Amino acid sequence: MNLFRNFKSVTKTAYGRGSFSKLGEIIAPHRASGKGYMVFLVDHYFEGNEGFKAKLPMLPGDELIFCSTKKEPSTEQIDALRDDLLVRHGLPAGLVGIGGGNVMDVAKALSLMLTNEGSSVQYQGLNLIKKPGIYHCGVPTISGTGAEVSMTAVLTGPAKKLGLKCDWTVFDQIVLDPDLIASVPDDQWFYTGMDTYIHSVEAITGTKKNTFAEAYSEKSLEMCRQVYLKLDRKDPKSDELLMVASYMGGLSLTYSEVGVCHALSYGLGKVLEMHHCYANCIAFNQLDDVYGDYVQEFKGMVKARGITLPQNLSKDWSEETINAMAEVAYALPHMWDHAFGPDWQQVLDRERIKGWYRRM
Ligand code: NAD
Ligand code: ZN
Repeated sequence: MNLFRNFKSVTKTAYGRGSFSKLGEIIAPHRASGKGYMVFLVDHYFEGNEGFKAKLPMLPGDELIFCSTKKEPSTEQIDALRDDLLVRHGLPAGLVGIGGGNVMDVAKALSLMLTNEGSSVQYQGLNLIKKPGIYHCGVPTISGTGAEVSMTAVLTGPAKKLGLKCDWTVFDQIVLDPDLIASVPDDQWFYTGMDTYIHSVEAITGTKKNTFAEAYSEKSLEMCRQVYLKLDRKDPKSDELLMVASYMGGLSLTYSEVGVCHALSYGLGKVLEMHHCYANCIAFNQLDDVYGDYVQEFKGMVKARGITLPQNLSKDWSEETINAMAEVAYALPHMWDHAFGPDWQQVLDRERIKGWYRRM
């Protein structure tokens, strides 16, 4: 396979324990000669943590906004944040997102919407953004989604859950400090980490991959195996590997595509508002007929980590709910095309999709 791809990467990547302490000097050149202010978008988990706050390299005039992660980012939320900042302070010099996939997407979307007029709803899709956003830096505090490297900011809008996807979405800078992810609770650490495992499996098993995708996938899978099957979570190497695995899993998708699990997960997310990474685990657990040995390996990791995935969720789902989820999933032909090839309609119909949901 030699599929043509031409993508922008994150411009600068800082990696290593303690790199968060360098954030001040990293963003200093982007403060627009002292005229602009910086916005710090921080996961609400850190609200009230004075020790953490003291580490933020804030200067007078900067804005600190805590972001709730109860719901996934929405177009409404981004538009309101943008309007509020512009009315109160004018255009910032840049922004820094500190948190999980949720805050990474808020930071990427807000950067774009500070310079593009109208509602973010009109830009949901590929290459619809008209102008570059402002300087934006991402600091992940939980690893797995790859949102720190991807070229999309996933937003839930009134009609669709779809990313603002273009070259300008990609971060100008990321700071990967393994110290920051140590406090993630074990269950969330597992679900979000499995997102990168599943990205890598889906990227490597479909038809739209190229050699870059294979290289990133294989390395990410190997790192996930070390983290979830071999190392103690307290081993310093564990978080160091997981942060890089997330990055590589994200890039494996840039050079390939997601597949069956993500299609089903989008249905669970849109209809039941299930968290992306948790929904992936629920779906992947039932996909033996598609991902075979990888699903067995996944089950081994679930067991090794003492995670309990719910069984028989579907007994509480009405036919209407299952139909609605199947419609969301069916309407993602690029994922089916990748998973099963251009003749995917010969092996997949709505009934097969509903069958997977009924097994969950
Ligand atoms: P998240 O951002 O939803 O965070 C999960 C939980 O962990 C939250 O309760 C958060 O407060 C908490 N948390 C974060 N850091 C912590 C820390 N250091 N210690 C303790 N708790 C911490 O989780 P996620 O799984 O990283 O991201 C999911 C989001 O990512 C969804 O909105 C999904 O749509 C998006 N996503 C985006 C992409 C992309 O390419 N843009 C890819 C996959 C998923
Ligand atoms: Zn994912």
